[in-house]
Amino acid sequence: MANILQEITDANGKSFSVDISKICDINGDIGDNASASITDNQRNRVTKLHDVEYVDQNGNAIDSTKLLNDMASGKTHVSAIDVEMEATHSGKNHNYCIYYEDSMENDAESFMNPFKKPMLKNHDSYSEPLGRIIQSWHGPSELTDERSAIHLKARVTDQDAIPKFLDGRYGTVSIGGTMGTVTCNICGKTILKDGKFKFCGHWRGESYKDQMCYWGARDIEYHEVSTVNNPADDFAQIMKVTVVTDSDDKKDSKDSKEDKPMAGTNTDSKAEDIKKNVCDMIDDILGNKAASASDSSSKTPEGTQGEEDANNGGNNDSTTQNDNGATNDSTEVEQLKTQLADATAKNKSLETELSDKKTELEKAQADLKDAQTEAGELKDKCLALASANKELVADGIIAKELAAGKTTDETKDSRKEELLAMSMKDLNKLSQETATEDNKQPRNPAHVTSPTLANNDEGNNNDSNGSADTNKTATEDNNKAKKTVDDFAQDIVSKLVR
Ligand SMILES: [Zn+2]
Repeated sequence: MANILQEITDANGKSFSVDISKICDINGDIGDNASASITDNQRNRVTKLHDVEYVDQNGNAIDSTKLLNDMASGKTHVSAIDVEMEATHSGKNHNYCIYYEDSMENDAESFMNPFKKPMLKNHDSYSEPLGRIIQSWHGPSELTDERSAIHLKARVTDQDAIPKFLDGRYGTVSIGGTMGTVTCNICGKTILKDGKFKFCGHWRGESYKDQMCYWGARDIEYHEVSTVNNPADDFAQIMKVTVVTDSDDKKDSKDSKEDKPMAGTNTDSKAEDIKKNVCDMIDDILGNKAASASDSSSKTPEGTQGEEDANNGGNNDSTTQNDNGATNDSTEVEQLKTQLADATAKNKSLETELSDKKTELEKAQADLKDAQTEAGELKDKCLALASANKELVADGIIAKELAAGKTTDETKDSRKEELLAMSMKDLNKLSQETATEDNKQPRNPAHVTSPTLANNDEGNNNDSNGSADTNKTATEDNNKAKKTVDDFAQDIVSKLVR
């Protein structure tokens, strides 16, 4: 696309050269983007420094260094890895964008729909993808308490990239997408909607009267996730890598009913696991509540929980009653809630997957039904053709028998019934015999108008033509139209017999 550069002057009198066609584009990378900077005043820290978790398909921890050695020596072949990451978070980023939870929850779907978006390197949309996103859900972040995240699972099959995930070179990621709606945090105006940009005078990353300008992005259509060196989102990190080796693959298909959680390959058992986990969690939470509700009914809930609970909307009551002021319990409940929210989100994504599969199944069933109907129709046509053919042959025999005086007009109907009751094989034989008899009686008027007759020699034809002129009875004329049909039947029979 050609660049449409436009000069924009902001409220400070500063000029910007802006490509309007790209103004909706975002990527969470701090590259040469003038609006993104890691020298801004945000100093983010993770709740807990983490190492990427490396597991096999059964969820057992593996030694990534040993695996890399085994791969290098050819002892093990890793066909794919499933990379789980927190791709983007709510709140402010170094690219001076703010992402909102409610929008993210809806937008997460666009990583999978209308197609599975690619995992790339450095947002290069013309490069070969490292793999594709196979799961996307919105939920709490493990790295920060203040933000929620869109979690992604990408299946990486690029053989050059796999070792780089395993040795930790690829550790941070960044999303690429298009903003649907953008609002300015300084003046509150909507500056971008439905692809139309209306500049309010405040540019993201610029300071206006000591207030930093952030653009609030909503309705984001995500295009890809990339490995990058400098993410604009400090928490956009790879969390877990599930290794799919060839031997795992075989084991997986054999033991698919095994009760262990498996990475993405067995939706049913996974959904079952999640369902079980969710049930356990619900029981835990409700069990707590039931047990402590009677306890706490006479006691006043401690005030220390108030602050935290206020952030949790509708769940205040249960949490307050649960805790009885015990901080450990409260942390546990918070953790359980987090897990529940996480599991619910996962469940939702699996449900979507399941319903997609159901739709596919329904379509396949409809296709099958169509094919069966078509096959049925074809069968009917074949039956009709076969019986029409048999009738033609029978008519041919009767015509000859009439001509030879073997059958009369009175008996021809019953004769036809008799013939039709015969097998096609016998009928053919009979028809052949009749034809041979005809040849013995060259004067038979049945052959008079039979130029298409396959088995007749020319002399016979000439002779018959001659006799036709001399036999102009009414019955002959009546038979004339019929003869051509008979001839046709005879033709078929002779071809069959030949
Ligand atoms: Zn503004």
